[in-house]
Amino acid sequence: MTSQLQRFQEGLPVLADPPQYDLLIVGCGLYGATFARLAADAGLRPLVIDQRPHIGGNCYTEERENIHVHAYGAHIFHTSNRHVWEFVNRFAEFNNYINSPKALSGGRLYSLPFNMNTFHELWQVRTPAEARATIESQRFRGDPANLEEQALSLVGRDIYETLIHHYTRKQWGKDPSELPAFIIKRLPLRFTYDNNYFNDRWQGIPIGGYTLMFQKMLEGIEVRLGIDYFSNRSALDPLARCVVFTGCIDAFFDHEEGHLEYRSLAFEHEVIATDNHQGNAVINYCDPEPAFTRTIEHKHFDPVGSRSDVTVVTKEYPQPCRDGAIPYYPVNSEANQAIHRRYRERAESLPHVIFGGRLSEYRYMDMHVVMEAAMNRARSVLPALATP
Ligand code: UDP
Repeated sequence: MTSQLQRFQEGLPVLADPPQYDLLIVGCGLYGATFARLAADAGLRPLVIDQRPHIGGNCYTEERENIHVHAYGAHIFHTSNRHVWEFVNRFAEFNNYINSPKALSGGRLYSLPFNMNTFHELWQVRTPAEARATIESQRFRGDPANLEEQALSLVGRDIYETLIHHYTRKQWGKDPSELPAFIIKRLPLRFTYDNNYFNDRWQGIPIGGYTLMFQKMLEGIEVRLGIDYFSNRSALDPLARCVVFTGCIDAFFDHEEGHLEYRSLAFEHEVIATDNHQGNAVINYCDPEPAFTRTIEHKHFDPVGSRSDVTVVTKEYPQPCRDGAIPYYPVNSEANQAIHRRYRERAESLPHVIFGGRLSEYRYMDMHVVMEAAMNRARSVLPALATP
């Protein structure tokens, strides 16, 4: 007998009853792959589709010159959640990479995140008390209403102008005074000489790259790549009892409540004939020019696994999300949040569709947060699906 999937792929009508799969998972990024793994572990049958020709969503890595290149920008895994860490370690061994970006401003390099090294580089202060006093003398006082006031309140005018103002403008295409305060609260501020960008207990990059990690996660699960959900919706929906949708929630509802704003990125990858180009995995560009915000030298993410006489360097250019560009970041302004609330209300009336991930939840989430969200949702819905 021809399977429903075969009928779909041959362009024939899909017979709705009974569905061949328990779940149709739209999107093979972190949320979709985590959900698929947990569904398969629970004895269910997921089908994962993705419009791109590869698995892993934006975590996808590809090998070039014996180096695992983060094709869609730097992805550093970090978490303090033991369940997430144990789950992800089922599929990869992590190296001990600790993210310590440098920031270039006015021709000088500064340490990130904002810590005693940064304060010493900027003001030549040596003690936490001196650093606190300097920040105190130039802080914004009051209740911060936006990113600019939040930054001025946390670190004062010098750091804001040197390392935040222009970088943020380039990153988001908006003035920091028009952006929500929480974006800058992501960055640690500490009064120790510690350049670790994250505060989490566990951190690293999967040895062998993220693509290998996703391959292991998806073992035994049907994945169909290069399939656009929206062009095949009426044929795809009947394949499964429920849908896990990880794409843009406004597209799911045909933008009927308005267009949500996302920020996109363009990447310029270059092979350079030197074994070490910039001496660090990530350098941030905090001046108005050049237009890129970061350069990434991929081999430094994995010094043991990425041995090569040459190097691959990527420039990251933020851009508006137009003309089929890939959406990366939700732009969580008040107006966009209001539109998203309307979509969320509509989503609640569709109990057979689970919306998850950065684009669907319209939340600025790190990888571990996406994974945790998928794990929590799977835990709450899979038992009912697994019961005949
Ligand atoms: N940021 C900044 N200067 C920097 C790095 C970050 O002003 O050198 C601000 C900027 O507003 C950015 C936010 O901090 O959007 C969060 O940065 P993060 O590195 O967490 O961004 P991601 O890695 O998620 O793109």
